[in-house]
Amino acid sequence: MKQFFSLLTAVILLFMFCTGCNTVKVTEPDSTEKLSRYEGSFLDVFDTVTRIVVYAETEATASAIVDNIHAQLLNHHQLFDIYNDYPGIHNLKTINDNAGIRPVKVDKQILDLLDYAKKMYTFTGGKMNVALGSVLQIWHNYREAGIDDPVNAALPPIADLKAANAHTNIDHLIIDRDASTVYLADPTMQLDVGAIAKGYAAQLVIDKLRAEGVQHLLLSIGGNVCGIGLRGDGTPWKVGVQSPDMQSNLCTVALTNLNLVTSGSYQRYYTVNGQQYHHIIDPETLMPADYFVSVSILCDDSGKADALSTALFNMPLSDGRTMIESLDGVEAMWTDQNGVETFSSGFESLLIHD
Ligand code: AMP
Ligand code: MG
Repeated sequence: MKQFFSLLTAVILLFMFCTGCNTVKVTEPDSTEKLSRYEGSFLDVFDTVTRIVVYAETEATASAIVDNIHAQLLNHHQLFDIYNDYPGIHNLKTINDNAGIRPVKVDKQILDLLDYAKKMYTFTGGKMNVALGSVLQIWHNYREAGIDDPVNAALPPIADLKAANAHTNIDHLIIDRDASTVYLADPTMQLDVGAIAKGYAAQLVIDKLRAEGVQHLLLSIGGNVCGIGLRGDGTPWKVGVQSPDMQSNLCTVALTNLNLVTSGSYQRYYTVNGQQYHHIIDPETLMPADYFVSVSILCDDSGKADALSTALFNMPLSDGRTMIESLDGVEAMWTDQNGVETFSSGFESLLIHD
């Protein structure tokens, strides 16, 4: 499903792109003569809205870029899907369905994603664990049931969560590069790549677009935003970090060849006895993490930003800060339940003060 339109005559100096709020606000005229601004969007990948802004000479060029992005993301979506089968495709669901049964031959993109996930598991001290699927599935089921039937919404019994947690050892995720297979050695183990799939896929797309010479593009898949180059008029992309109340922006950043990814407790949740329970689960408590309401990461790799946003959401500020400051070119912003914002040392230099 695609909507596509162009603003051929003029027109945009300032562009505000609110992460997660699906709002594009055009407020000032563009001085560009050669390039026009085009916007495209679709809803059929990664269970969220994807928006693209691109500056191009013709509508045909812009349209081809959007179609190209859509085709790539659809392919990644199908490969990384844990809920649906697709004819002729071995995806993550196929791997999960064959846990404890047999290795599954998969596309190189899946091998690469899972290798990356293992690396980030180690780097984050297990706070981002794609092998947490058995636990996450329980939360998913209770959340869906609670959203469908709020009066009877309930919390999963901790005994069930603990029993599932006995099957989250990432060492049982066996990746065989020579055979191009993935095997879950524990029959009760399940993969869930929700913490990294969007960002990882976005980075693959961005790398390809750059190699193809695309110079002025903004891509947002849900809360994952990537900026290539500058806008058509030579000014930086400006992206708002959405406030947890979804009414405004916490701040605005310049996104020149950078990615902004936010994990937030307000993004997906359900309510039990008046209290909200969100979707990011602390592997230690097996409960929704309660250190922050949102964590945003800025860096030059969208997959890394996605993995880190989830991991930092699950750890105290001091641990997260030490982790971020150990990395070159990676910045973070934490917002706690009292609205207190904390920035890593280089974040503020990327802020735009209008
Ligand atoms: P994100 O919005 O990138 O923080 O990802 C949240 C999604 O990641 C959830 O909807 C789950 O699918 C998955 N998830 C939740 N908690 C964890 C965790 N501790 N480690 C890995 N994946 C998680
Ligand atoms: Mg993430």
